Amino acid sequence: MSGSTVDQTRQMKGAQAGGSLCGSPQQEQQHRERADATALASRTGARPGSNRLHDERQGEPFDFDVTIVGAGPVGMALAGWLARRSATRTLSVALIDAREPEDAASDPRSIAVSQGSRMILEPLRWPADATAIYRIHVSQRGHFGRTLIDHTEHGLPALGYVLRYGSIVHSLAQVVHATPVHWFKSTTAQTPVQENDGVTLRIDSAGVTRTLRSRLLVSAEGGLFHEQQAGSGGSRDYRQTALVGTVSVSAPRPHVAWERFTSQGPIALLPTGGVRGADYALVWCCAPEEAARRAQLPDDAFLQELGIAFGDRMGRFTQIKGRAAFPLGLNTVDALVNGRVVAIGNAAQTLHPVAGQGLNLGLRDAHALADALSQHGPSPLALAAFARSRALDRRLTIGATDTLARLFTVDFPALGSLRGLALTALEFVPPVKTALARQMMFGQRR
Ligand SMILES: Cc1cc2nc3c(=O)[nH]c(=O)nc-3n(C[C@H](O)[C@H](O)[C@H](O)COP(=O)(O)OP(=O)(O)OC[C@H]3O[C@@H](n4cnc5c(N)ncnc54)[C@H](O)[C@@H]3O)c2cc1C
Repeated sequence: MSGSTVDQTRQMKGAQAGGSLCGSPQQEQQHRERADATALASRTGARPGSNRLHDERQGEPFDFDVTIVGAGPVGMALAGWLARRSATRTLSVALIDAREPEDAASDPRSIAVSQGSRMILEPLRWPADATAIYRIHVSQRGHFGRTLIDHTEHGLPALGYVLRYGSIVHSLAQVVHATPVHWFKSTTAQTPVQENDGVTLRIDSAGVTRTLRSRLLVSAEGGLFHEQQAGSGGSRDYRQTALVGTVSVSAPRPHVAWERFTSQGPIALLPTGGVRGADYALVWCCAPEEAARRAQLPDDAFLQELGIAFGDRMGRFTQIKGRAAFPLGLNTVDALVNGRVVAIGNAAQTLHPVAGQGLNLGLRDAHALADALSQHGPSPLALAAFARSRALDRRLTIGATDTLARLFTVDFPALGSLRGLALTALEFVPPVKTALARQMMFGQRR
């Protein structure tokens, strides 16, 4: 294989699979190991735990039709759709993750999930703790111009919803647990090896290594920019770090999300509820040195700096909880499909969080892959149809996100005025504003 997909798969592995396991009780682990081994043995007649090389297995029966590496929200959504749809529910599906789903509870990210994503997730399960976004206020610091996007303009119940990363994972994990999907938890996947008719994958769990043979392998290994190596399709370090946390304000505007562009990067405030709707998830993108300094500031000083950067549209910032930092960049693979391996979600593209597109795009990847497998079965034909169907949406979403992440950081007075004009003009050219908002919410389906 010459390719990017498998390269990307390999890159993610070193980064993600090793370090961050919280580990489950040993007994439970051993029990799961035995159950996994027995299930595999009965499926293949193979001796579980054996360490056979991939070429010894060529031509042997398949263990699974589809193996998904990565039980993040994108991999789990795919597993859920495959198990629930009538056209794919007879496929045997494996889901592999280096972590336990409970580990996601400590992830500090809050995610804006679009109305479009809600519509495709709802048939699986929709988390109860989502906070609706009715209006989005976009502005730039130090220059005139702003634009408002309201759900009523689009005839939608909401523009999007704010959820904790852990809540999305928890909700999808419940879906997957109720299906026959074979879930290998606390199990690390190695580099897949392509064969003529399938893919062989070595997996390691609690010191036991074994190989799986599948017709197709889906890389949903995700990851964060600073954990990944450069993507074959393009890579850009934005020299920005996102400081995240939960803040409270003195004059809340419930269900309003704010995106304020500054010369160091955007500040997003996403409503998360709380008493009087006063809690907001903060994503404050700034230069890495500034982020490192701000991460260490006492709360009062931090809130004061935030007030200066954001302004007083919601009164004063009164509280900050759970600060964490994420270095930001762009990584994309040049081809989603390589032989019988396909990449979706962050394994295919890792984006800047401006405009909240990463997970939404990844869910559309997973949904389109489920469509292609429904139509063509677990075959290279399905992967080719999938790749074709995703080209335009990926290009537009990656391009728009990359432009937004950089455009507002060019601190040139004339450009600031032009950007202000553009933001204001959006208010007066509804079709353009509508087209932009709909791309952000629904992407492009082919
Ligand atoms: C600060 C911040 C804010 C964001 N805000 C938004 C937002 O508002 N809206 C939005 O749409 N997106 C947002 N995103 C992006 C979003 O978080 C990602 O796009 C999304 O999490 C990608 O999901 P995924 O399932 O592809 O990957 P991940 O969530 O990274 O999950 C990958 C899984 O694969 C497993 N794994 C990896 N390698 C292996 C291996 N070798 N073997 C076994 N398991 C493996 C990992 O353990 C993990 O569970 C934000 C990102 C950041 C950093």
